[in-house]
Amino acid sequence: MPDSVKKLILTLLPALLFLYSYVFGFECVFRRWFGIICPGCGMTGAVRALLALDIQRAAACHPMVFSLPVILIYIFMNGRVFKNRYVNYGILSAVGAGFLVNYLIRLGILYWGG
Ligand SMILES: [Zn+2]
Repeated sequence: MPDSVKKLILTLLPALLFLYSYVFGFECVFRRWFGIICPGCGMTGAVRALLALDIQRAAACHPMVFSLPVILIYIFMNGRVFKNRYVNYGILSAVGAGFLVNYLIRLGILYWGG
């Protein structure tokens, strides 16, 4: 499969999922099956808030929404934004760690925080 097609799919798939959830409403499959939130839960609301320029609500829905442009740039640039691959690894690791920390905090607050 050509790289341009992969990029198009990687970009369009989340966009289509977002559009679907925006129009029809979307219950997270992970949440439905396992009864707990997934690392992406709240992202739709966050993107909606961001589109409405409500930064505070976007951050409250999912703070990692601000990393989406970084992720999209990395998808378009084949994961090589900087020449030094360790810089790229570092940035992507930071994004991943951000999602993980956010997820653990939200799990803690929702299920063990009382
Ligand atoms: Zn979810």
